[in-house]
Amino acid sequence: MSNAPILLTPGPLTTSIRTRQAMLVDWGSWDRDFNQLTASVCEQLLAIIDGSASHHCVPLQGSGTFAVEAAIGTLVPRDGKVLVLINGAYGQRLAKICKVLGRTYSTFETAEDQPTTAADVDRLLAADPAITHVALIHCETSTGILNPLPDIAQVIKRHGKRLIIDAMSSFGALPIDAREIPFEALIAASGKCLEGVPGMGFVFAEKTALAAAEGNAHSLAMDLHDQHAYMAKTGQWRFTPPTHVVAALHEALQQYNEEGGLPARHQRYADNCKTLLDGMAAIGLRSFLPAEIQAPIIVTFHAPNNPRYQFKDFYERVKAKGFILYPGKLTQVETFRVGCIGVVGADGMQAAVNAVAQVLREMEVLDI
Ligand SMILES: *Cc1c(COP(=O)(O)O)cnc(C)c1O
Repeated sequence: MSNAPILLTPGPLTTSIRTRQAMLVDWGSWDRDFNQLTASVCEQLLAIIDGSASHHCVPLQGSGTFAVEAAIGTLVPRDGKVLVLINGAYGQRLAKICKVLGRTYSTFETAEDQPTTAADVDRLLAADPAITHVALIHCETSTGILNPLPDIAQVIKRHGKRLIIDAMSSFGALPIDAREIPFEALIAASGKCLEGVPGMGFVFAEKTALAAAEGNAHSLAMDLHDQHAYMAKTGQWRFTPPTHVVAALHEALQQYNEEGGLPARHQRYADNCKTLLDGMAAIGLRSFLPAEIQAPIIVTFHAPNNPRYQFKDFYERVKAKGFILYPGKLTQVETFRVGCIGVVGADGMQAAVNAVAQVLREMEVLDI
């Protein structure tokens, strides 16, 4: 176990032994103790965004995408129209969800190194009054770019429209305050910055919007209105819960709070990101994004411009030294990605940089 590589991937990611040990208990899904565990998790999640007055936390079985699909399917009425803001693969996925669900939508796409701006959204909303909802990726994990959520949210509010935020890879590490940022739904999951294991997502849904969403959903299992109503009535999940995942998340949240909550988690990831960027720059590897729009979550690097470089070979060699990297997700340029999140600190990031340097020397791609 101790020889297991460190995952420098943005979920699943490296978890603590305590979090993994929390999964050694089997829970009855109808049991009061497990219901309390779920309630405690939801309460702690809401506290991270200061959202208990305005929003419900609705957990959902499955990976993060399940929760995103459920949020759109439940909250966007069948005659609604979604403006999807895209600058990477997860934004594309939002559009695909709208398409599959049969919701009317339009897209606005910027380059993968260009944040969407509030001015863009202002113009787009002014031009199309049919739009009811705007869907935005906070940190676009396919590059690591940060979109200016607070400014965009204010513009959407000014137009009287509703915002759905995929904050999957930022929630818990980057500050989002529900009392200051108006949104109808914000979606995240267990296995990202909270450092739990993958297996459940959750949606912070505005109470009034969720109450009004009865009958919108196209799907039984993905109906957040139903999921919430059943949980409010019984304390139980509607269908078999991912019991071990909930227990692990509960334990991960305890460690999150012990570490110092969001400010401490943010600081550790920012330190990780800086160590990574400085270290890679020192061996001549360039990051894809300029620093101003780089979120401290995941970094995209240009692949070395050398015919002896092959990602698969590079990946296997770095893995043998104890680190799992992530392939690039860009179509135009060859890149690879390194996550800054999970149970890892600046020492671990430096060790990863050292491993990368050593491997590139072995591959005769670097001669330093
Ligand atoms: C991880 C992630 C998701 C969810 O992806 P899954 O593969 O379903 O876990 C959605 N959006 C963003 C921005 C993500 O980083």
